[in-house]
Amino acid sequence: MPVSPALAEDLAAAVADLYEAAERTLIDRIRQVLADGIDSPAWVGLRLAAVGQLRAAIEDIIAALSVDASGAIHQALAEAWERGAQAAVVELGALAPTVSVIPAGTQAVDRLAQSLIADTRPVHVRILRQSVDVYQGVVARAAAAPALGAQTRRQAAQSALDDFARRGVTGFVDRAGRSWDMRSYVEMATRSAVGRAAVEAHTERLGAAGVELVIVSQAPEECPLCKPWERQILARTGAPGAREVQVEHATEDGEMVTVEVAGSLPEARSAGLMHPNCRHSVSAYLPGVSRVPKAQPSRGTYEDTQRQRYLERQIRKWKRLEAAALDDARRTAARARVRTYQGRVRELVAETGLPRKSHREQLTTAR
Ligand SMILES: [Zn+2]
Repeated sequence: MPVSPALAEDLAAAVADLYEAAERTLIDRIRQVLADGIDSPAWVGLRLAAVGQLRAAIEDIIAALSVDASGAIHQALAEAWERGAQAAVVELGALAPTVSVIPAGTQAVDRLAQSLIADTRPVHVRILRQSVDVYQGVVARAAAAPALGAQTRRQAAQSALDDFARRGVTGFVDRAGRSWDMRSYVEMATRSAVGRAAVEAHTERLGAAGVELVIVSQAPEECPLCKPWERQILARTGAPGAREVQVEHATEDGEMVTVEVAGSLPEARSAGLMHPNCRHSVSAYLPGVSRVPKAQPSRGTYEDTQRQRYLERQIRKWKRLEAAALDDARRTAARARVRTYQGRVRELVAETGLPRKSHREQLTTAR
């Protein structure tokens, strides 16, 4: 069974779900604290005094999130490792029944988990700072204009809450300089780590079975980064660069086979192959036995899949706005937008034949 980052990507959703649930809890908390006594003339003074209370509530949310996330991260990586290793075992099954030493993945899992947990720390800092900023911004604006009536205060609070719900906790920039919302950032970071775990476990297991060559699949929705590697044979380890190698036949003792190698697996991965969301997979290439698959037409373009991701983000955004609504009219309007975007996803799916990913359209609920 070939390995691909997709083998483990569902595991990233469990971690990202925790962040999304926390974000929703945050919006709820800020809304509750702001709405408390909003029609009273003493509101500004009371709300200024409540900053500490809000901060403490947010710190509690973050503390619970840290514990949950670190547990979920370890679990996801251990499971990804296991799946990658199993994939290799299944793949080699009949051909390499001699794999007896099963390398322990614990250390690798811990290393990947520690690095991912370190990546989430700045996220937690940002959650606290931005939540308190949103709250203080609303109260400060009302304090600066003491003559504002209750109605205007309510409108100002609603528009600030809407802004926050729309963008969520922001400011996450990846190494390529693109910015992400919190859930997407955490999910991307986790996918990348679980994908790496699955691929590393697979490779390690192939190595233990003496398999030195792998082949890259053809993917139904091909990504531009991976196109050059599609259906190519790669050396599992070793030097980069295309070359011809002489290797022993996988099943015939002493028979040598010439194989065209496009480069090494680490080389292809550092050039982007098996990036998060990658549809390509890698499997053992057994000289003289494995065949290079024929090229196949694509199902939907890469742009189509990106369009689907965009629509899914819109659905989640409007679900958050629904959660932030201070009155029924806004709630109903937000719900209507959710349905509009869901309709567009249905159209896209019908047009392209891409699979619908309903879980990507869900907001998870707070604990
Ligand atoms: Zn790819």
